[in-house]
Amino acid sequence: MTFATLGLIEPLLRSLEKLGYQTPTPVQAQAIPAVLAGRDLMAAAQTGTGKTAGFALPLLQLLAMEGPKVTANSVRALILVPTRELAEQVHEAVRQYAENLPLRTYAVYGGVSINPQMMKLRSGVDLLVATPGRLLDLFRQNALKFNQLQTLVLDEADRMLDLGFSEELANIYRALPKKRQTLLFSATFSDDIRLLAGQMLNDPLTIEVSPRNVAANTVKQWIVTVDKKRKPELFVHLMRKGKWKQVLVFAKTRNGVDALVEKLQGLGINADGIHGDKPQATRQRALDRFKASEVQILVATDVAARGLDIEDLPLVVNFDLPIVAEDYIHRIGRTGRAGSTGEAISLVCADEVNLLSAIEMLTRQTLKRQNEPDFEPEHRVPDTDASGQVVKKPKKPKKPKASGGGGGKRNLGRWVDSGEVAPAEPSIKPVRKVPVFNTGPRKRKP
Ligand code: AMP
Repeated sequence: MTFATLGLIEPLLRSLEKLGYQTPTPVQAQAIPAVLAGRDLMAAAQTGTGKTAGFALPLLQLLAMEGPKVTANSVRALILVPTRELAEQVHEAVRQYAENLPLRTYAVYGGVSINPQMMKLRSGVDLLVATPGRLLDLFRQNALKFNQLQTLVLDEADRMLDLGFSEELANIYRALPKKRQTLLFSATFSDDIRLLAGQMLNDPLTIEVSPRNVAANTVKQWIVTVDKKRKPELFVHLMRKGKWKQVLVFAKTRNGVDALVEKLQGLGINADGIHGDKPQATRQRALDRFKASEVQILVATDVAARGLDIEDLPLVVNFDLPIVAEDYIHRIGRTGRAGSTGEAISLVCADEVNLLSAIEMLTRQTLKRQNEPDFEPEHRVPDTDASGQVVKKPKKPKKPKASGGGGGKRNLGRWVDSGEVAPAEPSIKPVRKVPVFNTGPRKRKP
């Protein structure tokens, strides 16, 4: 099968040739003809499977071949993405594919000044990539109109819900013309997403090129158990031992990112960090330098987990496990992309046993444990497996107390003493709101 047999036009084929794409990936083979035929789509595809081209190529073709010329402040196709980085990345891909077509494309996202974006939108754009919050700002300030909108793409839709964009999505949805094509892409399909799809899509074609919620099988995954306070030390040890060249590291919090970067830099290691508190320009610069191999270790919160495409990234390290198990799949999806192999190592402490168990259950595998001599944890990480079971050790007989008074370390080996598993930290589960789309009369805030 070739891109030509899928029905793509010559200007697009020329761009693909320049990019070195020879054969369509499975998601492209299914999505391209369906989108060209005007179908709504609900597509689940693993990260790195080429889904961006799967929706962008046919979309560009439809924009070039059909529909009116775009008018002032209008947009004909809208691609919604969860993060600024992904907006840049998707737009860059779109720009390359559209090189030989007379179409205007643009990306808008928060964290940068809105005025240049308003100026650019004045003459209208054929295809706009946007994050939900900034898109709504622009719409509310009358910099954008949706009357010409013919296609809506939701990319990484599950991530948008995880990031709390459900209300924004519902507001955007209300502002769009009812008659349009909608394509929903997501690496994982939760029940919330299926609900959302039921509300937004019209007789969609469902594409599932990989089993639900299974991590990329090109990625070798293993964990090292360690006490929480020794994680930085273990990281540096593993890095030196494995002679790691380029590593994307995920930490749970912004402070965690900053602390690890500071520690690494203090040791003379070439490291940088990205998280939501940093200005957009700083984030983009760190990412660009990492992609250009000018930075060896990039430490990030989950804001960087989705969609980032870094060529030949050999290794992802989970310095902390993600709180939402599905994020594990997205994180490790940064390696082993486009057919190459990769490795994902997670440093796991006793506090994280429930998170580990959730990941193993979701990915239907028991992650291989590899102990690192001299780093065996004092607080043992209980055994887990893909069934979601945390294997508890039998209770030890209590030693008689040496003297009166209830001394002793309460926290040491808590899960053993109490027969309970220590709760994962933080114990607050992120709340996922699912938008309920109002089909009644539209109400706008004044
Ligand atoms: P995506 O899953 O859309 O982020 O794409 C992952 C990577 O695969 C990107 O670097 C794309 O440029 C690349 N890619 C997508 N489709 C193809 C293809 N048909 N042949 C070769 N590379 C591709």
